[in-house]
Amino acid sequence: MSDTSTPAIDITLLGEPQAGDGMAVGASAQVAKAASRIPAGDSRTNIFDLDRASLERFFEEDLGEKRFRAQQVMKWIHHRYATDFADMTDLGKALRAKLEERAVVRAPQMIFDKASEDGTHKWLLGMDPKNAIEAVFIPDKGRGTLCVSSQVGCALNCQFCSTATQGFNRNLTTAEIIGQVWIAARHLGNVPHQRRKLTNVVMMGMGEPLMNFDNVVRAMSIMRDDLGYGLANKRVTLSTAGVVPMIDRLGEESDVSLAVSLHAPTDELRTSLVPLNKKYPIAVLMDACVRYAQRKRGSSVTFEYTLMKDVNDQPEQARGLVKLMQEFDRRVQMKDAAKVNLIPFNPYPGTRFARPTDEAIRAFQKQLNSAGMIAPVRRTRGDDIDAACGQLKGQVMDRTRRSAEHRKHLQASGVSDAA
Ligand code: SAH
Repeated sequence: MSDTSTPAIDITLLGEPQAGDGMAVGASAQVAKAASRIPAGDSRTNIFDLDRASLERFFEEDLGEKRFRAQQVMKWIHHRYATDFADMTDLGKALRAKLEERAVVRAPQMIFDKASEDGTHKWLLGMDPKNAIEAVFIPDKGRGTLCVSSQVGCALNCQFCSTATQGFNRNLTTAEIIGQVWIAARHLGNVPHQRRKLTNVVMMGMGEPLMNFDNVVRAMSIMRDDLGYGLANKRVTLSTAGVVPMIDRLGEESDVSLAVSLHAPTDELRTSLVPLNKKYPIAVLMDACVRYAQRKRGSSVTFEYTLMKDVNDQPEQARGLVKLMQEFDRRVQMKDAAKVNLIPFNPYPGTRFARPTDEAIRAFQKQLNSAGMIAPVRRTRGDDIDAACGQLKGQVMDRTRRSAEHRKHLQASGVSDAA
């Protein structure tokens, strides 16, 4: 992890479990049992789906109770990790019985978790009988960062991302997003405002968070709420491939740190890597980033740049990147308003991209540094438990044809899909 305030890890899927992939095969049977979603026919509300404002409405309008009950219940759930209304002793018997009838507190099911020697920790979480995602906790000096997913799979098809090879199934619910934080925080014995182990959240796991806007914004509001996880705005980071209209909406509705996956300084190259660039080219994207930064004085935007050998790691691209970043600083009228995060590409089976040599990575970084830019290279963490960028896997019931096409491609090229 680099020394910026927006540490990151990406969650990528490496394919459905294969024979020989012991961990995932074992997990596969358990995914079938997992269900954080409320079963069909059960009309009860999952409290995990509600942020403070909607929980207050739920108490007042749906239950005919006082709004402040929401605060008590949030503390029980997010500070004390209670999921049983019977344990919420300051609520009164009648209210507890009413809640049991009308609501549940249901987190995603933990299928397994694994600890790395370096303190990194990952969880495979079942979202429904067919789908599982992973969340990863990365401790660093004085900081603990959780990388959270927003969708099962991803629809954007970025060419170098292994999540794309899995196709897309569905958006995660608010409960499934905040549930990842809850499970990690409970495991860590996190107590907001006291023993805080979880200090940062990055929406950098599977999926495009801005394509699941409402659920992501509601979950981030619980992360930032004192009755939730009490994280400062700048400690919650949303990473996007560049869904321009939603960047503006995010600026209106939220105040979190923004990270943008840039990866290339020209439209031709960027479109070949991030197809979404056809719709929202670099100039349009940079305009939206400027608007986002201008909403709040002193706020910066992080630009992620995954370095791929002989694709975007040449001096010419470093020059182009410097120009874009300097232009951004000039428009926002703040030095270092643009922060660059360099991510060495993490290979996965069947990919046509490769990681540049360490020398090439250093040379690229040096070119940015010489232009006066801070551009940390993201450090690999947790690789002994396959938790490093690009090593994570979940299970996706693909509703597109992409995972089948990827498997066909792997077979044709004689590559095993097993991690
Ligand atoms: N959809 C969001 C979150 C994606 S994951 C977004 O696009 O920003 C976070 C970062 O990891 C993104 O910048 C993504 O482009 C990058 N990434 C994806 N696959 C990678 C790989 N194999 N190696 C290195 N970085 C990768």
